Amino acid sequence: MNTAEKTIYKPIYTSTKKYKMFINNEWVDSASKETIQSINPYTGEVWAEIPSGNKSDIDIAVAAAKKAFSEGEWPKLTGSQRGDLLRRLGDLIKQNAEKLAVTEVVDNGKVINEMLGQLKALPGWCYYYAGFADKIHGETIPVEVPNMINYTVREPLGVIGAIVPWNSPLLLTLWKLSPALATGNTMVIKPSEITSASTLELAELIKEAGFPPGVVNIVTGYGKTAGESLARHPDVRKIAFTGSTETGKQIIRNSADHFARVSLELGGKSPNIIFEDADIKNSVNGVLAGVFAATGQTCMAGSRVFIHESIYQEFVEKLIKRTRTIRLGNPLDPTTEMGTIAFEGQCTKVLNYIELGKREGAKLLLGGKRPSDSELAKGLFIEPTIFGDVRNEMRIAQEEIFGPVVCLIPFTDEEEVVKLANDTMYGLAAAVWTKDVQRSHRVASKIEAGTVWINNYRKVSFSSPYGGYKASGIGRENGSEVIHEYTQVKSVWVDM
Ligand code: NAD
Repeated sequence: MNTAEKTIYKPIYTSTKKYKMFINNEWVDSASKETIQSINPYTGEVWAEIPSGNKSDIDIAVAAAKKAFSEGEWPKLTGSQRGDLLRRLGDLIKQNAEKLAVTEVVDNGKVINEMLGQLKALPGWCYYYAGFADKIHGETIPVEVPNMINYTVREPLGVIGAIVPWNSPLLLTLWKLSPALATGNTMVIKPSEITSASTLELAELIKEAGFPPGVVNIVTGYGKTAGESLARHPDVRKIAFTGSTETGKQIIRNSADHFARVSLELGGKSPNIIFEDADIKNSVNGVLAGVFAATGQTCMAGSRVFIHESIYQEFVEKLIKRTRTIRLGNPLDPTTEMGTIAFEGQCTKVLNYIELGKREGAKLLLGGKRPSDSELAKGLFIEPTIFGDVRNEMRIAQEEIFGPVVCLIPFTDEEEVVKLANDTMYGLAAAVWTKDVQRSHRVASKIEAGTVWINNYRKVSFSSPYGGYKASGIGRENGSEVIHEYTQVKSVWVDM
């Protein structure tokens, strides 16, 4: 290992950072005067305070966004000018990548290497949608009505309410912000109360990029107060939500009164299917990356692994051996491979699921507890945990744990495994590992999931649609179709 690799990144702030909310390009406190403490899950220390926004803050932010949508500079900009602003934001994210990455690591315990990798990719979302900003157009439609011309225009929706979870705040914010702004909307963003800091750091860059006041507003606070007020607000034309399936249901109910559109990116319990002819080494690594990346706190976690019975034993041994090598440690140390759980409540939830798995009769093959190593004592660590001989109907195989816990389930044939894989309320992602090309496509076509990887896991791109079937969501993020999710069509008739 060279010395550069050994450098441990420093937390950016040495004393408690007091953040403000971002409304109309200004930094403001909440009308509530209350704050929420951000705790570093590795050290247990309060490292930041963020305003606890309430309904009146949301009202002010939505009013600012509504005004910016119809008055002032923003609605006058051409598509290419909006694209330029987004490109500038992408450049600024590049220039500030380390600061943004460290902020998120300190806030949610994800490892620095993963965050630096993510930050390298994130400007791509700004650039990709910047490219669309001057290509949003309608069509001319031949109508069977004499002397009439009909054409359509694609118009922005208005104020977008973006509600984001704690596991990947920057990424999931940019997935919404880039297409929303490229298409001419304005926004109120409500990050998670657990991890608001990186989004507020991003706000500095949004201002620096030159977006006019009110185009992007950020109100921090709890889901029940700030989040619900945003979802219920009559001037919000779309809620772009990422979070749990339960909250997704509330968003639909609360936005129904004013017919806001919704896009919902929700939970998952994704199957990872290993056929008998799979490349064992690659699939072991794929399973590992699929479920233990970000300490298992990803919606796409491949948390149900179906392994053909003929290779079950060999696969399990290799998976355990490889998992034992995962290095837990300081998330700011680039040699650390797995960080902490993001907050205390989530840590308890994951440990409770591990106890449940034992009671349900699953075989605990590895992990299952907080590590005994004294260096890790303060941090919210949970050892990577492997349950063997799981049955798909067990709760640990049906409910989203959102932690480093994987369920291994043996199967006998293709038909059975497709049935088992689909036997879940979720449908976010899946993977198929096999050298048989025909089987891989056949199985991919039968899996009820928005994304299927063949001989890989966890790949996403700004150009490829991402979203869920069934209880994993409504609508898609990423890709060209999203332009339609942030615009509405107007049909214009002209009498010739
Ligand atoms: P959560 O649903 O508890 O919270 C998500 C956001 O919604 C937070 O900002 C929260 O404050 C807000 N919120 C909570 N209650 C609300 C309400 N009644 N009205 C409006 N807003 C409310 O989810 P979480 O625990 O923060 O995140 C984990 C979940 O997110 C997991 O289920 C995970 O699978 C899901 N997720 C999905 C994707 C995806 O792309 N499908 C990506 C990441 C995370």
